[in-house]
Amino acid sequence: MGEDDLADIDWESAVRMELEPDAIHEARDGYYFDCPECGSPATIDNIIEEGRCNGYLNEQVEGIDFEVENVSCTAVLRLEMAYTSGSEPET
Ligand SMILES: [Zn+2]
Repeated sequence: MGEDDLADIDWESAVRMELEPDAIHEARDGYYFDCPECGSPATIDNIIEEGRCNGYLNEQVEGIDFEVENVSCTAVLRLEMAYTSGSEPET
């Protein structure tokens, strides 16, 4: 999946979830989340660059004690960082 495909995604209707500290797992490669659809690891690099979990990409994660299985996952993933300056909202 390339950048053009990701641009077609309707992110307005996507499910959003807040990330709790225990949602983030550490591996030798870096950090990963669990794919909300298939439960595969989804490394931050793959979420940002491919928009897909490692199960879909059939890509192992260095430093975890289980094999990533190649699954047909339909989830398209994106990380967001929310930001506010901290000032009171205008009413
Ligand atoms: Zn998945």
